[in-house]
Amino acid sequence: MSFDEIVEDVQRYVEYLRDEGVTRLNMSRQVLEHVENEQDIALELRAIAATIANCRKCPLHEKRTKTVPGQGCVKPDILFVGEAPGADEDQQGVAFVGAAGQLLTRMIEAMGYTREQVFIGNILKCRPPGNRTPLPDEMETCLPYLKAQIALLKPKVIITLGAVAARGLLNAQTGITRLRGRWMAFEGIDVMPTFHPAYLLRNESAKRPAWIDLQEVLKRLGKTPPPRK
Ligand code: SF4
Repeated sequence: MSFDEIVEDVQRYVEYLRDEGVTRLNMSRQVLEHVENEQDIALELRAIAATIANCRKCPLHEKRTKTVPGQGCVKPDILFVGEAPGADEDQQGVAFVGAAGQLLTRMIEAMGYTREQVFIGNILKCRPPGNRTPLPDEMETCLPYLKAQIALLKPKVIITLGAVAARGLLNAQTGITRLRGRWMAFEGIDVMPTFHPAYLLRNESAKRPAWIDLQEVLKRLGKTPPPRK
């Protein structure tokens, strides 16, 4: 559940209690701390997004329409990391909304999650012109934003999508075909590299190994995938 959904839920509940004539509410300290903690993380994430929106640290700011900081749950089990926004993402300011994003949504749902229960972002927060591959110095310049997000989100597992994301986050120089399915680590967090959904759209045969990677992640999280519909 995203922070905004939590806020809406709490507001609805407070209105319901008011309608019922309840004027005083004793929330447990634990519940309050939980809400405060999530609020703090959401506020920090918004501050990072605001900094990104004004960032001019690399030339990619010149042609962007919108920055794409990433979005989702503030305390996720899983953080998905792609390489950079594409045309749809640049227009909407939201990560993974094009055709590849729709496949990512199906992958997330096959794992038993919703998009709102995970966090989705990229190494780069601005679109490279013509969707070209991000340059190493662009990734190095932008990476501190993702690192700051990871420090706040504290995901249990990071899934990198495609070779470029693995290179940007892990400095992995191996091709994705050899890299995928092998556990790695980023600052103490388990990382599973797998194929990028855009690659899966073009290569049907890669879907099976990608699903094996996602199942491996579920195993590490102590979960089983829901029955397929
Ligand atoms: S890609 Fe990253 S470093 Fe470059 S301008 Fe955008 S936010 Fe700043």
